[in-house]
Amino acid sequence: MPRTLVQRALLIACATLIAVAPTAAQEPTATLLRGATIVDGTGQAGFVGDVLIQGPTIVAVGPAGSIDVPPDAATEDLTGLVLAPGFIDIHNHSTDRIAGDPTARTQIAQGVTTIIVGADGSSPWPVGEYLDEIDRIGVSLQVGVTVGHGTVRRAALGDDYARAATTSEMSDMRGRVERGMRDGAFGLSSGLEYDPGFYSTTEELIELARVAGTHGGFYMSHMRDEEEGVLDAVAEAIRIGEEGDLPVQISHVKAGNASVWGKSVDILALIDEARSRGVDVLADQYPYTAWQSGLAIVVRSRKFQDPNEVRAGLEAIGGANRLQIVGYEPDPSVNGMRLNEAAAQWGMSDVDAYMDMMAKGGSGVIGHTMSEDDVDRFMASEWVMTASDGGVGSAHPRGAGAFARVLGHYVRERGLISLERAIQRGTSMPAARLGLEDRGIVAPGKRADLVAFDPITIHARSTFRYSLRQAEGVRRTWVAGQVVWRDGSPTDARPGGGLRRPGS
Ligand SMILES: [Zn+2]
Repeated sequence: MPRTLVQRALLIACATLIAVAPTAAQEPTATLLRGATIVDGTGQAGFVGDVLIQGPTIVAVGPAGSIDVPPDAATEDLTGLVLAPGFIDIHNHSTDRIAGDPTARTQIAQGVTTIIVGADGSSPWPVGEYLDEIDRIGVSLQVGVTVGHGTVRRAALGDDYARAATTSEMSDMRGRVERGMRDGAFGLSSGLEYDPGFYSTTEELIELARVAGTHGGFYMSHMRDEEEGVLDAVAEAIRIGEEGDLPVQISHVKAGNASVWGKSVDILALIDEARSRGVDVLADQYPYTAWQSGLAIVVRSRKFQDPNEVRAGLEAIGGANRLQIVGYEPDPSVNGMRLNEAAAQWGMSDVDAYMDMMAKGGSGVIGHTMSEDDVDRFMASEWVMTASDGGVGSAHPRGAGAFARVLGHYVRERGLISLERAIQRGTSMPAARLGLEDRGIVAPGKRADLVAFDPITIHARSTFRYSLRQAEGVRRTWVAGQVVWRDGSPTDARPGGGLRRPGS
């Protein structure tokens, strides 16, 4: 997989060199961003004011008319717009696709300026080589990495991974995590519902997480179970942080099916309790009631050809009508359909259709199985930030819509959280988790990664049928002081690149 990425990235890089003529930077050295309501990312109330940026940096912030402006400064009038720090997506899946779409259009259209890839236990490898490639390609935003536990486990154990690791394999994995951290990774991610992370013990995870923690990293987990066993899974994640002595990030926190609806209360109580005894545990969520994963996840025993197990799995998620097929290659005509609709088209039972698809290599699937109440409760919690769990080219609308949807749906349409809080959970919160002190807040000395949007019109247009529709309402996105998005279109600027953990 890494080799394919290298090859693809190099091809894209060559194509880019030919296609894009270099443009001389003729911009004035300073730009005054005037008249916007500044929501600075800290959670404090917004105020109408001005921001002066110079090169890649914010140099002054103040009430309207209060800043001394250099005579040659340009001015952008942002009256009526909200000016906020660019969004930081701590769980992004643009890993490979960004090479084919280096402007990351659906991302900067939402004001996303930093993404972290390598989530769910699966990361590019080696980390340093990947970050160098991103630099060579030239991208619009900044791209950081977490080391994937599954990636290092697979490298150490090979195909024979359905077991505990040996002492020498543990040592191999520790070395790989260490190398990833030295290459600039921000932490260790795990995906414990997936191969090969599924077979790891808690002790293995503690030991590897400790290595990441020694380098100032955090542990981020797609937990073992988001359904019936979700509370045990949260407890395990907390234990890994506590015994591994590092911060914990619960990925895409959810009560994943009808049998655990309402458990958001208990999940948040576990987080509260851990925090009160000093464990630094936080979570992130995408603002939707449907998840996306592989069809395999439905049958917990992994007996994919056992009709009774398949029937039980489909019942537990509330029926085949809750599963929407995406990216099924053997018969693309069923993409977008619910599993029961595909089964009817094939003249099969739901159970037989499932088994047939698994026998042919499985499929991506969107599971419409969460309750709005749980999503709301996580949205309102002070311990939960926004992350897309999507990215460039996502088949789930969260990739093109997560950050815009929080602002349009949860702030404006429903008033569930304040605008200030919505901005904070997408900016300073992930910045603090990543140890990135140079961004996430609009203040002098910070990077000029910014977004200006219309609070009246911002909304996600991506849907479960048209997942790639770009969000509306973002008027400008700046990365390192350069405009990468202007009034509905990307510019030619590619000021982004690989982002390495400070001090690595
Ligand atoms: Zn995940």
